[in-house]
Amino acid sequence: MIRVFLFTMKKIALLGATGSIGSSTVAVVTAYPELFQVVSLTFHSNYEKGVEVIEQLQPQYVGVGSESMKIKLAKRFPKVEFGVGEEGLVKAATLAEAEVVLTAVSGSVGLAPTMAAIALGKDIALANKETLVMAGQWVMEAAEKNNVSIVPVDSEHSAIFQCLEGQKKENVKELVVTASGGSFRELTREELKYVTLEQALKHPNWSMGKKITIDSATMMNKGLEVIEAHWLFGTDYDKIKVVLHKESIVHSMIVLTDGAYLAQLGPSDMREPIQYALTYPDRLPIKDEKSFDLTQISQLNFETMDFDRFPMLALAYTVGKKGGAYPTVYNAANEIAATSFIDGKISYLQIEQLVQRAVENYKETTEVTLEEVIAIDKQTRIIVERWIKEEGRL
Ligand code: NAD
Ligand code: MG
Repeated sequence: MIRVFLFTMKKIALLGATGSIGSSTVAVVTAYPELFQVVSLTFHSNYEKGVEVIEQLQPQYVGVGSESMKIKLAKRFPKVEFGVGEEGLVKAATLAEAEVVLTAVSGSVGLAPTMAAIALGKDIALANKETLVMAGQWVMEAAEKNNVSIVPVDSEHSAIFQCLEGQKKENVKELVVTASGGSFRELTREELKYVTLEQALKHPNWSMGKKITIDSATMMNKGLEVIEAHWLFGTDYDKIKVVLHKESIVHSMIVLTDGAYLAQLGPSDMREPIQYALTYPDRLPIKDEKSFDLTQISQLNFETMDFDRFPMLALAYTVGKKGGAYPTVYNAANEIAATSFIDGKISYLQIEQLVQRAVENYKETTEVTLEEVIAIDKQTRIIVERWIKEEGRL
């Protein structure tokens, strides 16, 4: 039987168009102009890159980070409508024409536009993991209520999503998330005392935005991904395992009840999970795909994760199991700590110390609402910023 390719033009809202995921998304959509159209986009502060993507994608609506940026761009692109800040993000995500929202902003600013898009029944292609860590319960509840699919873009979750296709939930024993180990995987904790920002930004396998590259070194990224997997797939934390896999070839795996392992493998190219999130359940060739030859790779290695070496991963399981706003605090503290490290305000190991301290400082006695979670996120940022001001760089 001949299978007819049923994919029709998809209209996309792209939040975070100038970033690393944003750029890979631009590569995906411009490779198939007859299938993808970006109707709205946002970016924060990179004017040159912003101009480039507006010229390339010709969106109707653009959200930017500041009023001055809006004024400057409105003169240059009189046919485009512009908005600013959270309002701009929400407007871009809820534009009537947009069918799917690809959330590629960095950090929990992704929450408001994601929730607004879900409320209108728009599907989500989710790169922005912080949103799901901050408020997973509420995002997933809203998605279910509005019959919205949240398709992962994060490579590990895309891999698991692909492996889970056609499997009965009761037959899935475990999810196995692979971790490259980040920039400092060969260093001892003692050696971490002296590392620099420049060293931290050199990821061995992936080229990504600054924050996620730092998060990969501290293993916060894997911690965020464990919580992301819990919400995306409805899997108990005890059934989510992490293994160190330095080659980043196996993007993640699942284990079935009879002991069978299913894995998804491929090159380190984010265009693959991005494109799949947009074409699912169909598939398309990747234009100018990276060469990938397992006989050249010849060896794949897997090691146990050392939770003492990577305390942020251990803490992810603690906050995840506690639930409520504990993951919110874990994420918010890290957003401030990681960006403060990038800005040179703190040393590398202070990131972990601040996250640990924020989580220990937080006490939850009653169930929290989404409004309270949003307030706790803000409060945590203020507290951690105050600690950084008081202590300085240690
Ligand atoms: P990036 O820093 O390269 O890009 C971030 C984008 O968000 C930019 O377009 C920027 O303009 C925008 N942005 C930043 N701060 C903003 C703010 N306050 N308000 C509005 N917009 C803002 O980041 P990235 O590496 O592309 O990552 C984006 C998201 O995708 C993150 O959540 C990250 O964890 C996730 N992710 C990234 C990768 C990757 O390969 N880069 C892989 C998996 C998941
Ligand atoms: Mg990932």
